[in-house]
This record gives sequence, C-alpha cells and structure tokens, in this order.
Amino acid sequence: MSADPIRIVIVGGGTAGWMTAATLGHFLDTGYSISLVESDAIGTIGVGEATIPHIRVFNSALGIDEDDFIRACQATFKLGIAFDGWRHEGHSYLHAFGDVGRDVGLCAFQHLWSRAARLGFAKDTNAYTLNAIAARAGKMHRGDPLTGKAVPAMPYAYHFDAGLYAAFLRKFSEARGVIRHEGTITRVLRDGESGDISAVQLEFGAQIAGDLFIDCSGIRGLLIGETLGSAYHDWSDWLLCDSALAVQSPRVSDFTPYTRSIAHGVGWRWRIPLQHRTGNGRVYASRFIDDDTVRAELLGAIEGEALTDPRLIRYTTGRRAEGWKNNVIAIGLSSGFLEPLESTSIHLIQTAISRVLKFLPGRVQHQADRDEYNRQFTFEMERIRDFIILHYWANQRSEPFWQACREVALPDTLRHKIDLFAATGQIYREGEELFSEVGWFQVLAGQGITPAASHGMADTIPEADLRDYLGMIEALYAREAERYLSQADYIAQNCAAPERVMA
Ligand SMILES: Cc1cc2nc3c(=O)[nH]c(=O)nc-3n(C[C@H](O)[C@H](O)[C@H](O)COP(=O)(O)OP(=O)(O)OC[C@H]3O[C@@H](n4cnc5c(N)ncnc54)[C@H](O)[C@@H]3O)c2cc1C
Repeated sequence: MSADPIRIVIVGGGTAGWMTAATLGHFLDTGYSISLVESDAIGTIGVGEATIPHIRVFNSALGIDEDDFIRACQATFKLGIAFDGWRHEGHSYLHAFGDVGRDVGLCAFQHLWSRAARLGFAKDTNAYTLNAIAARAGKMHRGDPLTGKAVPAMPYAYHFDAGLYAAFLRKFSEARGVIRHEGTITRVLRDGESGDISAVQLEFGAQIAGDLFIDCSGIRGLLIGETLGSAYHDWSDWLLCDSALAVQSPRVSDFTPYTRSIAHGVGWRWRIPLQHRTGNGRVYASRFIDDDTVRAELLGAIEGEALTDPRLIRYTTGRRAEGWKNNVIAIGLSSGFLEPLESTSIHLIQTAISRVLKFLPGRVQHQADRDEYNRQFTFEMERIRDFIILHYWANQRSEPFWQACREVALPDTLRHKIDLFAATGQIYREGEELFSEVGWFQVLAGQGITPAASHGMADTIPEADLRDYLGMIEALYAREAERYLSQADYIAQNCAAPERVMA
C-alpha cells in the first residue's frame, strides 16, 4: 500500500467548490491532500442566496458559530417562501418550514384540514403554521417557544451573500490545509487505459495531479461533461423556463423573514433581503418573452436604483446521466440544474458532499459504488423536479405561458402524488426524498387542490370539536408569534453585520 496521501482535486471555487473544500478539509486527515483550482478570469455564477434549514446542519457539522457566519455573510433569517400570484393573481400562500397544525393521534393534520375545508370553515394552511404566522408578521425568534411547550420551535434557514459565503469558507478551508490554486484550466489529462483523469493543466503549464476529482466548475461541467461526456437529461419539456436575470438593489429596512417568489405573466421574480442589500431576479421562458422586456420589468419592480447591471444566465433544466463517472464526481451546477423556486441547489451540494464522504472513493474506485451513488443522486433530483413542476402545473392563471405549464404531461411519479392527494388527502414521502408530507401539503393546498374525501378518522370528529381544534391552534400560534421581535430588531440585537463587510 502506498503511504502517499490520496489526492483530491476540486475544480471550481464557487459555492459548491468551497463547501466541498471546507467539508473535506474539516473531516479528512493526513491520509488525504486536498487542493482547489479556481479561475478569477472565469469567476462564479454570483447567485444562490436563499437556503433551506438543512444548511444549519452543514454549518454546525463544521463547527461554524452561527452568529459569526451571519455577520460575515450579511445573512438574514428565512422562515419559508411566499408564493405570490402562483395560483392566480392576488392570491398568496407561504410554503413555510416546520409543521402545519397538529396531528390528532394517528390522524395527520391534512385530513382534519381537508374535512374542515369541505365543511367550509378551514382557513389557508398558513393560519395553522407558526412559521407562516411569524413570517407574515415580519417576526423572528430562535430556540424555545416563549409561551410554553405546546408550541414548536421554529425551523429556519438563511438568506446570505453567496460571494461572502464562499470567501468565508475559503478562509475556513485554507486554515485546514486546503491548497488553493488560481488559474484557468486549459487542458485535462487522462489515463490512456482507464480514461480516468490524471491531472488538470493551467494556462501557464502547471499541472495538478489527482486520484479523485470533484467537478465544481459550474454549468459547463468541465470534467464530467466536456471531458468525460456524461450525458445531460434535459427536463425543459416539464419546466419551461430557461433564463434568469439577476440584479442587486439597496438594503431595505423591511427584511421579510421569507423569500418572495412573485409570479409574472411569464415566469416569476425572486426577492431576497440581506442585511446590506437585496437580491432580485427573474426566471422566465425565452420562447414566451424577450430579455429586454424582462430586464425592463425587473428594473421597474425592484426597490430603489439597481446596484449592478442585470446579469443574464441561460440554463437547461436537467441532470447529468451520471453524477459520478470514472474518477470524477460532479457537485453543484456541473451535476445538473433545477431553478431556484424552492432554494434547493445549495442543499443538493450539501447532500452530494455527504454522499462523497460516505463513499469516500480513494485510489481504487468501484463501479458498484458509482451505481449506488448515481441511483441516489437521480432519485433526489427527480423528486425535487416533481415538486417544482407541481407549482407551475397547478395554476389557474390565464396567460399563454401559464396555460402551457398546465398542459405539460406530468411525470408518473408526480401524477400519482397529485391524484392520491386529490382523492383522499393522502401524502407519502418516499425514501429519502427532500420534501416531507407537510411541504407537499402546503403547496398542493396552496395551489388550490382540495381532497375530495378525508380519512375516516377525521370524519369521526364532531364538526364543532374540529372547529374548536383549528381555532385553538391558530390562537396558540398567533399568541406565540406576537411575542417575537421583528426580524430587523432581532438581527440588530443578536447578529448585525458590521457595515464594512461588503460583497
Ligand atoms: C438564477 C439562479 C438563481 C439561483 N438561486 C439559488 C438560491 O436562491 N438558492 C440556492 O440554493 N441555489 C440557487 N442557485 C444555484 C446556486 O447559484 C448554485 O448551486 C451555486 O452557486 C453553486 O454554483 P457552482 O459552485 O456549482 O458554480 P459556479 O458558481 O459557476 O462556480 C464555478 C467555478 O468553477 C471555476 N471554473 C470554471 N471553469 C474553470 C476552468 N476552466 N479553470 C478553472 N476554474 C474554472 C469558476 O472560476 C468558478 O470558481 C441559483 C442559480 C441560478 C442560475
């Protein structure tokens, strides 16, 4: 056995590259050497600022102090995502983190809600969700509830500056021995027999050799796609948008503790408030609207003057046929792309990193491991894809774009989920799919689908008791949220970033 360390080379220094470097640097010891190559000339995609609660697990596994991270990355808190106008113009609902209502014994809350809905007295699911009530009131709180044990703690995520997060993780990684190389890779060298990648070469000739390569090179997929030819499964028949325009606007005092996703005639707009500025962007389908019209609409919609020129990003929704091929594992945009509607890309980076750690390929790699890795990667991507399609498909809007979204032929997996819920209110989370029953419930109900029948157990509850029960949950959560600080005050008191930390 060779005593030389196993050489892991990370190609790319965006969010994916530095999250990977930080984790490997933190968890691997002297048996490994970790290096990262990034190109200042190429730069990063420069977006990706809204997260889901799992990011807290990532940061805490690395031992990162939460308030240090918030200050360094100009972060704010996020309790969910508001979908404005997605069902129809004027309608809004939140997909909030955390539980909706409270189950009664074995009877899941969605059955109680659907019975109450058919009886005509159920409110929007948000009325029974602590995160949604606090979010709409602009409130934030971490830790134990203030009014007693009958109330859950609020799960939360962050909005943060992606550039500052990468810089934060770079410092963290370099302190743990990760070697950074700056330069553009112009040549990729392969082993003549296995086809594995042996080294990458920078423009001035320096070569960086490795045993395992992690491709974090962004949408182009320099190693996984351009070099190894892992095919790309295109999902744009289901998800029609193929373009985004991103722009930053000045800081606002209204730090909504939620991401806003505002439906437009074609596509939608995001609004992500950070401590020092607001991130905005439009996602749209270029065959329904031209870039200049979207640019004008976006600039007309943001608060204040734009701080940057709107940046155009073209993409193809889909995934690599193989996320791990030969001795290359793709993480981040190189592995595939799903639009940021549910803020899932950074989470996908996280799960890919944890898979790498579980399989931890070394000098000798096994096809059986690759197959299992790729099976898990495919399952995860396809279930998130289904969830995103649901938002578009279940709309009641009149514009041609939205009509086209209603006409897509749904994947069988999604068709099954919708049919089951519409018939009897049942929702099942499959395996390790990301979104739980409450996530599906909020979006199915939020988009206007109400089950035709409810569970027998819900039907046995007398109507008056059901009414009291729903009213009690609503009052309990409203009373709790009332005691929280506004997010702006909460940040000012706990984790305000110094003014000098700029992107
Ligand atoms: C419009 C839009 C909005 C998004 N919003 C969200 C969001 O709200 N939440 C979320 O979770 N995700 C979001 N995402 C996804 C998120 O931005 C990405 O998942 C994340 O930034 C990771 O990108 P990356 O590191 O894979 O690629 P990039 O940021 O593109 O980084 C690629 C790296 O590879 C390097 N590189 C490339 N070629 C070479 C070469 N030849 N030589 C050397 N280096 C090279 C580049 O220099 C760079 O360092 C969004 C994406 C888009 C397009």
